[in-house]
Order: sequence, then C-alpha cells, then structure tokens
Amino acid sequence: MSPTLTTHAVVNPATEETVRTIDLVGVEETDAAIAKAVEVGPAWRGIAPADRGRLLRRFGQVVDEHLEELAQLEVTNAGHTIGNARWEAGNVRDVLTYYSAAPERLFGRQIPVAGGLDVTFKEPLGVVSVIVPWNFPMPIAGWGFAPALAAGNTVVLKPAELTPLTAIRLGDLALEAGLPEGVFTVLAGKGSVVGERFVTHPDVRKVCFTGSTAVGQGIMRKAADSLKRITLELGGKSANIVFDDADVAAAAAAAPMSFLDNAGQDCCARSRILVQRNVFDAFMEQFEAALQAVRVGDPGDESTEMGPLVSSGQRDTVRGYVDESDEPVDVAFRGSAPEGKGWWYPPTVVLPKSTGDKVWREEIFGPVVAVLPFDDEADAIAKANDTAYGLSGSIWTKDLGRGIRVARGVEAGNLSVNSHSSVRYSTPFGGFKASGIGRELGPDALDAFTETKNVFFNTND
Ligand code: NAP
Ligand code: MG
Repeated sequence: MSPTLTTHAVVNPATEETVRTIDLVGVEETDAAIAKAVEVGPAWRGIAPADRGRLLRRFGQVVDEHLEELAQLEVTNAGHTIGNARWEAGNVRDVLTYYSAAPERLFGRQIPVAGGLDVTFKEPLGVVSVIVPWNFPMPIAGWGFAPALAAGNTVVLKPAELTPLTAIRLGDLALEAGLPEGVFTVLAGKGSVVGERFVTHPDVRKVCFTGSTAVGQGIMRKAADSLKRITLELGGKSANIVFDDADVAAAAAAAPMSFLDNAGQDCCARSRILVQRNVFDAFMEQFEAALQAVRVGDPGDESTEMGPLVSSGQRDTVRGYVDESDEPVDVAFRGSAPEGKGWWYPPTVVLPKSTGDKVWREEIFGPVVAVLPFDDEADAIAKANDTAYGLSGSIWTKDLGRGIRVARGVEAGNLSVNSHSSVRYSTPFGGFKASGIGRELGPDALDAFTETKNVFFNTND
C-alpha cells in the first residue's frame, strides 16, 4: 500500500455490518489517473464514431448482464430497495444505450457566409471529472460518464465515500466491454482529497458535480481559477401542489412515495405538500391511510417500498430536524419502521407553523414531509416559489389551463402534472436557483461535454 492510501469500511445500512473495506486513493493516484486520461484521449476521440457507439452499446450490454449483481451490491451498500436498485442498474444500461447513438449524431452546422464555407464542430473537452453523491450512486454516475464518453472525452469519476461499490464495479465492466484502459477510471476516495483535486487539476476541463449546494458552491468558486466548465446538480425542496379540483384521492394515494422513495434521500423528493384549504382535511385523511400502508423494512425483500437511511449520520441529521429540533415541530402522523440494528426512520408528516419553519425551508433528505394549506392559485405559486431551491415539483388539478399556468409559474426545472414523474434519460434534468447550473440527460446533454468550434474555409482562389 502506498503511503497516501487510507481505507474506508463500507457498512450495510440495514444491518450495520461491515461489508468490505476498500482502499481510498490519494492525490498521487488521482494525478496518475488524470495523466493516463490525458494520454489516451487522442486515441479515444480518434475511434470512428460508429465504433465508439458500438463500444458504448457493448458496455450497456455488459451492465445488463450484471444487472442483478449490481442491484444486490446497491442493496447491501446503500440500503436501496431491490426494486429500485434493479431500476438503477437498468438506468445505467439505458443511458449508455441512449448515448451510444450520439457519436454518429454529434452534428455541427453549415452556416451561409460570403466567400467560403463555414462549419461548426462539436469538439470534446478533454478530461471530464464526475463527482457522485451517495443517494443514487449508479444513475448519477451514468448521467455523467455516458454522454461524456460519447462526446469523445475521457472520464475520471469519484463515487461518494459511503457508496463506492457499484461505481468500482462499473469501472471493471467498462474494461470487460472493451473500453481502452484509462478512458474511464473510477477513483474511490475522499471528496476533500480526490474531489478537490479534480477541481484544481489543470488538465481536468470539466467538473460534473451532483451533491449538496454548499459543496457545489465551493466547486464553482474554485473552478473559476482555471475557468473550468461545471455542471452542478444540487439540492431541492420541491412542492407537491394539490388543488381542490384535483382527483384528491389519487393525489393522496400518490403522495407517500413522492417523498419516501429512497427513504427521502432524493433531490427530487416532493418534501413540501401544499393543499388547497377546502380539501385539506379530506386530503390528510386519505394521505394518512396511504402512508400507513407503505412497507418499510428489509431492502432485499421484493415487497419492501422503503429501506433504511444510508448512514447513522444521515439519521442524526433527520432527527435533528424533527425529534431533536431547536424549533417545536408538530408531527401530524407517522408510519412505522423496524427497530434494532439499521439506520431506520419512520415516514413522518409534519405541520409547520409557517413558511419560516426549518422543516418547510431546509432540505432534510429523509422520509419527512411538511404540509401547509393554500388559498388560491396565486397563493399556491407564491408559496411553491418561496424557497431557495428549484429542482422539481408536482401539480394536481383537472383543469388543463390551471395545470399549464401553474407549471409555467413554478420556478423549477422538472415539473409533473397529475403524477410524480421521475427522471427520464431522454428528457433534460436540472435545477433553477440554488438547485444547480446546467442540464443533464436528454438530447442536448452533449452540449455540456463539448466545445463548439467554428471553421471558415476560404473558397476564393
Ligand atoms: P456532498 O457532501 O455534497 O457530496 C457529494 C460528492 O461530493 C461526494 O462524492 C463527496 O465526497 C464529494 N465532495 C465532498 N466535498 C468535496 C469537495 N470539497 N470537493 C469536491 N468534492 C467533494 O453531498 P452528499 O452528502 O453526498 O449528498 C447529499 C446532498 O446532495 C443533498 O443535499 C442532496 O440534495 C444533494 N443531491 C442532489 C442531487 C441532484 O441531482 N440535484 C442528487 C443527489 C444529491 P465524499 O463522499 O468523500 O464526501
Ligand atoms: Mg457530504
């Protein structure tokens, strides 16, 4: 072991048992991986577009062949339910397949000009770094590395310290699929070491970061020194707005999993519910029944809907907002959670006194939702927008015009009417305001991993 190596014990959040101890890399190993990524860059971007596409499709196939293994790893490492974990591994496959079509479709333009031919090219940036949080280790990794590789970049990726296992495995599978060594390197290490080095290293041209707003702000400040490109996907405190003309029963039935999925550790969690005053009581009654029916328990069990929190630290954070808060918190009702070993926290519904309460304003990142009434459409939009964040949100109404007006009025990047739609790889994803900068996924993601080059060819003799 080189002197810069330290170790991290990966712990199963449902049992508190150590799963594996992994070596964490330091600055030296990070620099070596970046140097290798620089070295292999020209060969990678020189591969014929159809062949680069084929390699990415092959990578997607190999992920698919290992889908169950990857899913089980995530159940063990992150406490994700097995159903979710299978979806997450499948998402990596799908994102690779979607962007495998990109190398052959990285179109420039031909622009009419006098005296020559003017064309644009989409050139790769060079080495792209991806920094991944612990809440969705597989999908968020894929949203960064798949389009980055498709655009001809080489990639270094740092998983969160808590959840490195699936990313490490994806790094192996890339090699198995035939990606040349050094094109995609996974570096398990600390944010303050490896992540920090990605941001300060002169040969890294872009930082694609998902995580907390505070760390994202720090990355943006430091990236300014070398004018590094950044994409930031940060926190959220998204509103679920239920109007009196909605199918209130459907809205109430869908509300629990809109904030309990992944035990609430979801940047898109609808963690604020706004209910029109005249249907507030009817909604709450049906919401309570639906919440009590959510199955919380062993994440490996096929029927489980919610597992444990990722760490004891995250559970302490959640308790700090509810049970051990310095502000009085009125709990309306709770679901159940297992007792004993594991970082369990029950589904919890709180009633803030006003929009100034911390449970209403701050991202808790756990299975806690705050509910407030509103009076009319203008009040709903104003309350939904009274937040630093702007990631997602939902609107329940049968009035088409209202659905459109409110969707246009809410300042957030991803809205959903009469559903709580999750992220789709074929549509853009990202936040307004403190929820981030830039967009991932969808048809335009390649723009975030390329520079536009304009070339004029003189046609005069
Ligand atoms: P975090 O502390 O910001 O960490 C995210 C990643 O950044 C981790 O890999 C972390 O490494 C690394 N990191 C930490 N300090 C760094 C630094 N100084 N320089 C470079 N990298 C650094 O967030 P988290 O605790 O993993 O995740 C929870 C938060 O992320 C929540 O607030 C949530 O809203 C947000 N989030 C947002 C989205 C989105 O799409 N908008 C998605 C997921 C999560 P270590 O693990 O070693 O600390
Ligand atoms: Mg952190």
